[in-house]
Amino acid sequence: MTSNYYIVSDIGGTQLRAAVFAENGTSPVSQKKIPTSGKEPAIERLKGLIADVWPKDGRVVAIAAAVPGPVDPVRGLLYKAPNIPEWVNLPLKQILEERFKVPTLVGNDANVAALGEWRFGAGQKHHDVLYITISTGIGGGVILNDQLLLGHQGLATELGHMVVMQGGPKCGCGKRGHVEAVCSGTGIARFVIDQLKAGKPSLMTLDPLPTSKEVVEAAQKGDALAIKALSRAGRYMGIALSNFLHAFNPSIIVLGGGVTKAGELMFKPMREEMKRQVISPSYLEGLEIKLAALGDNAGLMGALALAQTIKP
Ligand SMILES: [Zn+2]
Repeated sequence: MTSNYYIVSDIGGTQLRAAVFAENGTSPVSQKKIPTSGKEPAIERLKGLIADVWPKDGRVVAIAAAVPGPVDPVRGLLYKAPNIPEWVNLPLKQILEERFKVPTLVGNDANVAALGEWRFGAGQKHHDVLYITISTGIGGGVILNDQLLLGHQGLATELGHMVVMQGGPKCGCGKRGHVEAVCSGTGIARFVIDQLKAGKPSLMTLDPLPTSKEVVEAAQKGDALAIKALSRAGRYMGIALSNFLHAFNPSIIVLGGGVTKAGELMFKPMREEMKRQVISPSYLEGLEIKLAALGDNAGLMGALALAQTIKP
C-alpha cells in the first residue's frame, strides 16, 4: 500500500520552514528550516527546501504554504510580502505546481494560523473562532460557521488595521490610529519611548530604547509607566475586540503572539473595556478567551489544515 503525504511550508521574512505529514498525522514525519535570504532568490530556496523534504516513497497529495502577506487564495497569488521585497504579485501556486506537479494551496499567514488554532489548537470544537496575534504587528483570522472567512479577493479580516484612535500613531501600513499602531509590541514600545522623552519617571531608559518585552518585564517589577503602557494597550485592544464581537459574534477569541506574555496586565483592562463597549451583554455570555496553543507551529499546522482540504 502506498502512503499518502502532505507537504506544508511556513514562509517567513527570516525563515523558510517545510514539513511532511502522513495523511492522518498531526506530527511531522520530517521537517527542515533554512534562512529566507541567501545566495539564490527566495523562491529558488523554497523550491530546494520542498525538494529536500520530499518523501522517498509514497505519494504527495498536496502542498500548502502560509505566506507573509495578502493573498488571492483562488489563484494562489501573493500580492506582496513586506519582508520579502522581490515577491510582488508572485504566482506561488502556479510556480510550485509547475515544479512539483501536485495541487498547491496558498494562504495568508495570519489566516492560516487561525485555521491551525481552530483545527489543532485552542479553538478546537468551536464553529466560530476569532484569532488574533499580537507581536511586532497585529494579524488575525476568522472562522465563521466552520469556514475561514476570506472575502471577495481574499483580503478579509485584516484585523490589525481597524481604526481605534482617529489621528493616532502611524501604523506599519502607513495609515494612522490602527489597533496595530497602538497595541502591537511596536506600538507599546513607542508609547513608552514617547513618555520617557517627555520626562516620565521609570526603571526603563532611552539608552538602549526599550522593547515591548522589556516593558512587560518592567511592569512585572511594578514600574508605573510600564503598567500604564500595557493597560492602555489592553483598553484599545478591548475596543477593537468589541468591534470584532459585533461583526463576527465568535464563541471563542484565541490570542497569540509574544505580547500576550503581558498576561493580566493587559487582559484585565481589555476585558473591562469589552464589557463597556458591547451593545449587549449577550456577546460576552459563554465567550471563551484563550491563549493560542500552537506557538510558532500555528503556521505549519494551519497549512496542514489547508492541505488536508485536498483529499487523496
Ligand atoms: Zn494599519
